Amino acid sequence: MSATLIDGKAFAGRVRTQVAEHVARLKADHGITPGLAVVLVGEDPASQVYVRSKGKQTVEVGMKSVEHKLDVSTAQEDLLAVINQLNNDPEIHGILVQLPLPDHLDEDMVINAIAPEKDVDGFHISNVGLLGTGQKSMVPCTPLGCLMMLRDHHGSLSGMDAVVIGRSNIVGKPMAQLLLGDSCTVTIAHSRTKDLADVVRRADIVVAAVGRPEMVPGDWIKPGATVIDVGINRLDAPEKGEGKTRLVGDADFESCAAVAGAITPVPGGVGPMTIACLLANTVTACCRANRLEEPEGLTA
Ligand code: NDP
Repeated sequence: MSATLIDGKAFAGRVRTQVAEHVARLKADHGITPGLAVVLVGEDPASQVYVRSKGKQTVEVGMKSVEHKLDVSTAQEDLLAVINQLNNDPEIHGILVQLPLPDHLDEDMVINAIAPEKDVDGFHISNVGLLGTGQKSMVPCTPLGCLMMLRDHHGSLSGMDAVVIGRSNIVGKPMAQLLLGDSCTVTIAHSRTKDLADVVRRADIVVAAVGRPEMVPGDWIKPGATVIDVGINRLDAPEKGEGKTRLVGDADFESCAAVAGAITPVPGGVGPMTIACLLANTVTACCRANRLEEPEGLTA
């Protein structure tokens, strides 16, 4: 391996420390405690793990954590009533509805019912529009974490060629907007892209957000390029014991790390940054709500 390892776990720890310090100042100087509410509908095991982890980390940085666990059969209007109550609660500065929602609920309508200034996931149509027009917004957590790592590694991204593989609303599209905002020349690739290898080979920055295990091989990577691997894929790992699995990204780590200048591992890369950025967004939302100075370097 010749690439520098971008350690997302350590970076996320630094972000959490910065958030905790800002929370302590908000409490000491202004008597304000930032509050994050997470709404979970149903009992999807993966979602339960995420929600637990979010709640734990929220408390660890000194913020107030509120969890609303609703039955899987919750009606749309009852979910909207919970969101409305949180929108009007002055002690809550961030609201997150854990996705995916059960099929009978209208995800777009639910997300767009969150007050945009409390939409710490950055999925509300107003925040999407603000980001797209280069205005101050709440920025989706995973792409924000990727941007922070890229800025930290490179300093300025201006003029770099970036390829984002994946065009989802939660990762690919906002990632591309953020890179454009930092003056990269951005290409968005997807399942219909012709000659993906050729497109990727031109990039100084490759962000892979596809969900296909190890699909990007090292011989697609321009020597010295930076690879940000968003993918989280679980593969069987019989070598670790019966029924065991291991996590891999969308990039083939070994072959990419042999050519790239820098790379994020999976696990321990983008993943830990996502929750750290959720906490960062909550403290940012709290500062904006109270017209106080925002912490530096924690948003786009
Ligand atoms: P989606 O399934 O919503 O989007 C996947 C994208 O990949 C689509 O745009 C799709 O193209 C594109 N794609 C699929 N196959 C190919 C292919 N063969 N070549 C090029 N592009 C292709 O996924 P998400 O954006 O939600 O997530 C992507 C990955 O990131 C997943 O592994 C997910 O688990 C992970 N993730 C990780 C997070 C973290 O915290 N680290 C947070 C969020 C996601 P098309 O639009 O044409 O179908």
